[in-house]
Amino acid sequence: MGLSLSSLLKNPGHAYIFEGEADERLALGRAFAKGLNCLNRLDGPGEPCSQCLSCRVFESGNHPDIFYVTGTKATGIGVEDVRTQITQEMATQPFKYRYKIFIIDKAETLTPAAQNALLKTIEEPAPYGVFLFLATHVHSLLPTVLSRCVLIKLGEKLREPDLKQEALAEEIADNIVQMDILETLALYKRFEQYKESRESMGQMLDMLYLSYARRINQAAKRNVSANKLWFDSIAAIQHTKQVLAQNGNFQLAVELMLLRLSGAKENI
Ligand SMILES: [Zn+2]
Repeated sequence: MGLSLSSLLKNPGHAYIFEGEADERLALGRAFAKGLNCLNRLDGPGEPCSQCLSCRVFESGNHPDIFYVTGTKATGIGVEDVRTQITQEMATQPFKYRYKIFIIDKAETLTPAAQNALLKTIEEPAPYGVFLFLATHVHSLLPTVLSRCVLIKLGEKLREPDLKQEALAEEIADNIVQMDILETLALYKRFEQYKESRESMGQMLDMLYLSYARRINQAAKRNVSANKLWFDSIAAIQHTKQVLAQNGNFQLAVELMLLRLSGAKENI
């Protein structure tokens, strides 16, 4: 998925995976963390100012609210590391700035037990908590972790979101639960324009994914529990991407996804 730094900062969520090469993912993770706590950015989009106290302290490498999580054993980042470097830290308010941000590079070295230990914290984060998982290959993370994070794939060129796709994604996420089965299936027509381009369809699905991820993030910020259907929807969107990548039937895959997003999957 390609998104610019400003569009990421516009409506930040609380858990991200940046998938890409070491330098690139760390650069974006750092810029994002810096931007989140930048005192001159406030709630708008825009890049970190590099002049405020937070930005300057960040550049000095001693930011009190931005943490680099590392493994203390050769086996990787383990349960004990998660406990001492993340869970305990999350229990207290930020020292001075708006967010406590945990940058977990080489996230694929998180042991499965460590990932499980993190689940509850990611699912019900403190309103100031932000997790940035940086990994070369996202599929090395457990699906339960994946479904709770916004996935940003680097390597594809960073670009601004397509507004038409964004609008359709929001429309679906807002309304599909109230639609009856015929209305739900009729939405397929809106996807037909992407049938011939795997890339556009991939972007469209990424946009849809982001719409649901945002709802989960916003619920977390308001300290209300996220709708279980949102997590199911994210799983359904990911599944559809896989099916289409393997050249599955386009219409069938999209219709099935729409039915699952509408909450009708128990009946099909
Ligand atoms: Zn700043």
